[in-house]
Amino acid sequence: MIDIKEKYKCSGCGACFAVCPVTAIEMKFDREGFKYPIVDSDKCIGCNLCSKTCPIENFDFKHKDVSSQISTHAFKSFSDKRLDSSSGGVFYELSNEFLDSGGLVVGAAFDQNFNLCHRIIDNIDDIKPLMGSKYVQSDTYEVFKEIKEVITAGKKVLYFGLTCQIEGLIKYIGNDSNLFTIDLICMGVPSPKIWTLYLDTFFERSNIEYVNYKDKRLGWHKFSFVLKEKNKTEFFQEGFDNYYMECMFKGYTLRPSCYKCVFKCENKKSDLTIADCWGCEDYLPEIDDNKGISMIISHSEKGENLLSFLKNKGEIIAFDYSNVLKYNSHYNNCAEIKGNRTLFFAFVSKYPRVTFSLLGKNPNKSLVGKMFRKFKI
Ligand SMILES: Cc1cc2nc3c(=O)[nH]c(=O)nc-3n(C[C@H](O)[C@H](O)[C@H](O)COP(=O)(O)OP(=O)(O)OC[C@H]3O[C@@H](n4cnc5c(N)ncnc54)[C@H](O)[C@@H]3O)c2cc1C
Ligand code: SF4
Ligand code: SF4
Ligand code: SF4
Repeated sequence: MIDIKEKYKCSGCGACFAVCPVTAIEMKFDREGFKYPIVDSDKCIGCNLCSKTCPIENFDFKHKDVSSQISTHAFKSFSDKRLDSSSGGVFYELSNEFLDSGGLVVGAAFDQNFNLCHRIIDNIDDIKPLMGSKYVQSDTYEVFKEIKEVITAGKKVLYFGLTCQIEGLIKYIGNDSNLFTIDLICMGVPSPKIWTLYLDTFFERSNIEYVNYKDKRLGWHKFSFVLKEKNKTEFFQEGFDNYYMECMFKGYTLRPSCYKCVFKCENKKSDLTIADCWGCEDYLPEIDDNKGISMIISHSEKGENLLSFLKNKGEIIAFDYSNVLKYNSHYNNCAEIKGNRTLFFAFVSKYPRVTFSLLGKNPNKSLVGKMFRKFKI
């Protein structure tokens, strides 16, 4: 039975929760605001399915050094939806085609309280809330069970999410021919508690109309954080000046599993990996217009078939895989803690305004930030 003793050994994917035949597992928040499985021993029948399904407990280290990549491409959509996407709009274009062919798409969207959850859509009209990267851990707990139901009913599903979620989903469902998975390269995920604490400290959550962590009006390379409250002017900051984003970049707010992520390797179980095509200005300067370029790494035949959906949807250029390893270090390397994470969590709940504003200062723009960086706080 699942029993998490070391926090870094649980990514919170929820596969154990979904597989338990007697609903003996609850996903509960810890003090940092991340969810972990807790077993109700009165309900547990000792079947051990949870442990057998956990992708971390069963991680095959033998295959960690094998690369699963088949092809690597840069992509930029012809559609103006690219400006609402975090990189080149590959999520929008693949989803559009997949929905058109009768399949279902799964991605992360905020609910009305700005909590992030994965949801299933069957119509392109519902895609907007799923678009764009949200820098907070998404709740996948109910959606895994729903995906199993629709796949069993013979539907095709295209799941977009983080590598750990996909590893969990595949362990839970199996490598079904109707399940297509696309993971995002990720530096890690911040705590949902820190996200809502940030919103409640500096804004009125019930008044928020929209949030965009990666607005492109200053360009894709120099992205901005945007938030709009009703009857107020839009809050707009360069990404590195925003306290919430800076706390993430410094590695204070990420889930413990992200600093020791076993899935940071070149051998992925997903069909495709997508990401920002960082560095393309050096190796493909002709494609970079500073409006967002996606990187697509294919790992399977299903992935190669998905790539064919992108024909006529945008510019797609093959490039050398070595550039992924050179320019996108989060593909196979974990995030580092650049300051004092313990100090951050010790103070943030009691003194959120002061903690965010001192520890979230852009180190390049303020004396306090420079001082904190010098002393590695
Ligand atoms: C937490 C996080 C960290 C990332 N870190 C990096 C990085 O270090 N380097 C890099 O190159 N790219 C990173 N990305 C990926 C990148 O930002 C884009 O999401 C990716 O390039 C796809 O962009 P797009 O233009 O195709 O579509 P978009 O419209 O931006 O598609 C976004 C897709 O991501 C899903 N999604 C959004 N937020 C989450 C979430 N919190 N959890 C799970 N799924 C989510 C949406 O459902 C949608 O499917 C990260 C994404 C996230 C969510
Ligand atoms: S051992 Fe079986 S019954 Fe007990 S929590 Fe795990 S899956 Fe559920
Ligand atoms: S990693 Fe996933 S399956 Fe393993 S214990 Fe955590 S939530 Fe459960
Ligand atoms: S770094 Fe690893 S554990 Fe963290 S969100 Fe990404 S895939 Fe999951």
